[in-house]
Amino acid sequence: MSDIEKPINFIQEVINTDLEAGTVKKVITRFPPEPNGYLHIGHAKSICVNFGIAEQYGGGCNLRFDDTNPEKEDEEYVNAIIEDVRWLGFQWQGNICYASNYFEQLYAWAQYLINAGSAYICELNANEMREYRGTLTEAGKNSPYRDRPATESLALLEQMKVGEIDEGTMTLRAKIDMASPNINMRDPVMYRIKKISHQRTADKWNIYPSYDFAHGQEDAIEAVSHSICTLEFAANRPLYEWFVANLPLPSRPRQYEFGRLNLNYTITSKRKLKQLVDEGHVAGWDDPRMPTISGLRRRGVSAQSIRDFCDSLAVAKTDGVVDMAQFEHFIRDDLNNNGRRAMCVLNPLLVTLSNCEQDEEFTVPGHPSRDDLGERKLPFGAQIYIDRNDFSEDTSLARKKFKRLVMGDYVRLRGAYIIRADDLVRDASGEIIEIIGSLVPDTVGQDAPEGIRPRGVIHWVSASQSADCKVKLYDRLFNKAAPDTGEESFLEHINPDSLNIIEGCKAEIGLADAVAGDHYQFEREGYFTRDSDSDTLVFNCTIGLRDNWKS
Ligand code: ATP
Ligand code: MG
Repeated sequence: MSDIEKPINFIQEVINTDLEAGTVKKVITRFPPEPNGYLHIGHAKSICVNFGIAEQYGGGCNLRFDDTNPEKEDEEYVNAIIEDVRWLGFQWQGNICYASNYFEQLYAWAQYLINAGSAYICELNANEMREYRGTLTEAGKNSPYRDRPATESLALLEQMKVGEIDEGTMTLRAKIDMASPNINMRDPVMYRIKKISHQRTADKWNIYPSYDFAHGQEDAIEAVSHSICTLEFAANRPLYEWFVANLPLPSRPRQYEFGRLNLNYTITSKRKLKQLVDEGHVAGWDDPRMPTISGLRRRGVSAQSIRDFCDSLAVAKTDGVVDMAQFEHFIRDDLNNNGRRAMCVLNPLLVTLSNCEQDEEFTVPGHPSRDDLGERKLPFGAQIYIDRNDFSEDTSLARKKFKRLVMGDYVRLRGAYIIRADDLVRDASGEIIEIIGSLVPDTVGQDAPEGIRPRGVIHWVSASQSADCKVKLYDRLFNKAAPDTGEESFLEHINPDSLNIIEGCKAEIGLADAVAGDHYQFEREGYFTRDSDSDTLVFNCTIGLRDNWKS
């Protein structure tokens, strides 16, 4: 995908113009997550855009935690986000940045605006403030505190900071325009009182800056040249620009907005993902059904396929919904190229080969076209397992329809002999518990002899030398294309059959040493990786071999 020349997007156009005009010397971007949840596939797009642009223009991208709201933030999220960005393969420039490192500077700039007559302490409570704000069609009213002297506001701000004022009774507001058609410009709040301990600044602050007052100033401190965010911030841009114009900042960043990534059959909202975790609908943030980076990783999706998918998306000024099948195409393509081949029998049925006289070992390629993926050893003996679904007693089944083992007929074992089913052993209830068969000598790596036509090729494992394992098959987490757009809760659209655990599987012996993050194609079954959260051998199905999901 990356080989294909893509037309430049509107952000690249802006950057090219800025570089040509000399208004920007070094392109600096940032990825600014709030540490209030784990990153999801939507964030991956933002990461790829921001780090990708920095890389393309020989600039840098900052990883900055927008930790201005300690109520919802946590160190666990900080660590998970760092791990995810690294795993995706990106390196930020310099140290990790934190909005909280700039609290002193932001406070000083707040004082600056008060002194300039452009900010004031307001004593309206939340309800009153809403009333005074007006509506989309109606201008707001000036706060009665709007023209209080700067000295008074400065003193009150200090009292707010040290914790002498009650929460919800005062705010610091920018003095802009209560009649502005843009509600964001109607004297927006710069600081709120929150007597909450912060994960990095502890109890030093009893006030925390609003997103609007913090974000652009953080960009300016870090000399960010292009502050790229998602479309919902377009209406905040005039305010971003107002602060940049009215403060003595060390640089003059500019904000640009592009469309969020939305995927069908899933949700990309940290708040809702957190709800799935908190209410136990999934096993955690990294549950392999989650659209989080950590969930995708545990599921077996490679970082490269996430990047390729994100690079294939338009960076445009409109929001859109991308079809999950598009993402799955990249996942499958990558795994087909990079997944080692292996055999695993999900529903084992014992086959005893009556004429097998000795144990053998076959050597087969790790991948049909990748010599660098080496070879595998497959032990073979008189007893093997095949999948129950690969056998039928019904001799009338058409060869074309059932290319597997049928009573009295032949099938080839992948990488081994042609065998025939001769007899059956049943338990007391009549269920088949064993096939008695025979092998056709000299058919390993050889064409079938005259008169023998195997129906097809099936996978198998040695019964005496195999690895016991459990396999987890996943379906989509939601059974509605747009689970969070209706009147009803998105929880109503959770697919009750999104996880199917298969116990008692038998894998080829080499898989006993599988490591989480190694990718395999289990022949005829799908793509798998070892689960990172189990002591025993558990494989997660990343995705099926082909798209057979019916909507
Ligand atoms: P959420 O809505 O999931 O809570 P957020 O925007 O509040 O996401 P942040 O931590 O603020 O989460 O996001 C960090 C960056 O990632 C922001 O620049 C944001 O615009 C971007 N981002 C978040 N979700 C998406 C998405 N679905 N597509 C593209 N970029 C996104
Ligand atoms: Mg946000």
